Formats: sequence, structure tokens, C-alpha cells
Amino acid sequence: MDESVSTPVAGVIVAAGSGVRLGGAMPKALREIRGRSLVARSADALLAGGCTHLVVVVAQGLQEHFQAALAGINAPISYAVGGSRRQDSVVEGLRVLATDPELATCRVVLVHDAARALVPPSVVGTVIEAVNGGAAAVIPVIPMIDSVRRDEHEAGSSVVDRSDLRLVQTPQGFDLQVLVASHAVALRRGLEVTDDAAVCEATGHPVLLVPGSRDSLKVTEPFDLVVAEAICDQREIHQEDPA
Ligand code: C5P
Repeated sequence: MDESVSTPVAGVIVAAGSGVRLGGAMPKALREIRGRSLVARSADALLAGGCTHLVVVVAQGLQEHFQAALAGINAPISYAVGGSRRQDSVVEGLRVLATDPELATCRVVLVHDAARALVPPSVVGTVIEAVNGGAAAVIPVIPMIDSVRRDEHEAGSSVVDRSDLRLVQTPQGFDLQVLVASHAVALRRGLEVTDDAAVCEATGHPVLLVPGSRDSLKVTEPFDLVVAEAICDQREIHQEDPA
């Protein structure tokens, strides 16, 4: 029997950031692209890609707004209150996950930034498949297309060879036990990280890279919303056009 079909796959969506760079009164994850919020689009993509349950991590006092944004989604959704750093929010999400008897035993967990709302379900599926295949930590990446230079200040600047550099995206996929144990170690050691793969790496687990997608841009600034709208429009055109 194919294990991935019958066992739960948890998706933790971190959405507790304030999104100050985007502006607006509400958190970034509640902003809409073409009539659907970033958090709802993230949830759609995770579920279409193979997640069966979601934990959404939100800022204190905002759960009702998120419940309204996610109304109509046909999957079990739990909520957690986020912390001051992204890594604290992930830990809170994992804590809630551990209280659900069904999810506490699941093997695969994905952690996704709500801001990467347009991740294609195929990328989600690839990440899940890689964890099911035995990888402890999996991250989707894309190559760098710009030339890169290191500012050496008084000493000038120097070219960085970009051929081996990769831009890191989400959802990142993990063996749940590895991720929980690694975050516990990170807390004890006071490690500061910007993503979860770095937590696992710091505790000795190799990270597997899989292909990400340019569509998974992290909506951060007003310009990114314009790009995201254009991607949605393109998807709509291709859906309407059977050719
Ligand atoms: O700030 P940044 O863009 O790196 O945030 C990435 C994701 O992490 C966003 O979806 C944001 O809502 C989330 N986040 C969080 N808790 C924080 C900070 C960020 O859930 N304290």
C-alpha cells in the first residue's frame, strides 16, 4: 500500500508576521490577490499538493479574521498563536500539532510561509515525495538569475560565482520527529535561524534540495503584489484556454 495516500501529512502555515514592508492595517497573510487572501491561496496549494491537515499560526487576537479567510476550505484546520520570531511561530505550530492525536504520529510535516501564496501544488507534491522517500529535511530552491557581487566596503567589491548559489523557498518538508527535536536543540542553544532546514542542518541532518518555482515568490513589498496578480491572471488564461 502506498503510505503517502493513507497517512496524514501536516502543513504548518506561518502567518503571524506583521508585514510592515507591505503596508496596510491587517497582516500580510490576509491581503488578497485577485479576491483571495494569501493565506487561503497558500492553504489551497498545500492541500492540492498532498497535505491532509493544516495548522495556521497567527498573531494574537487575529484568529477570527483568519477563520473567516479560510472558511470553506475542506480540510481540518487548527490554529496556533505565533511568537516574536518566525522560528518561534514554527515551534508554536508544532506544539499545537503535537496535541492532535492523529497528527502527533504523522511522519511528514511541511512548513510554509503564508506569503508564498502561489506555490504550485506540484512543488508541494515533490517535497512530500522526497520526505516520504527518506529525506529528513527537504527544501525547494531556484537558481539565481542575477549576477551577484560582494560589497567589500573600503576594499571595493568582488564578483561571487552564482553557479552554485540557490534561492531558498517554502514549503520545506521534514520528518516530524527530526524537526521537533531540532527546534528543541535550537532553543536550548539559542540559535537564530531564518528557515527550518537551517535548524535541522545545525543538528546534523543533511538537507535535500528539490526544484522550486519562480511562482513561489515571497510577497513582501507592494511590487510583489503586482507580480502575484499577473501570475494569477496568467493561470486563469491558461485554465480557460484548453490549447
Ligand atoms: O518576515 P518574513 O517575510 O521572513 O516572514 C516569513 C513568514 O513567516 C510570513 O508568512 C510571516 O507571516 C511568518 N512569520 C511568523 N511569525 C513571525 C514572523 C514571521 O509567522 N514572528
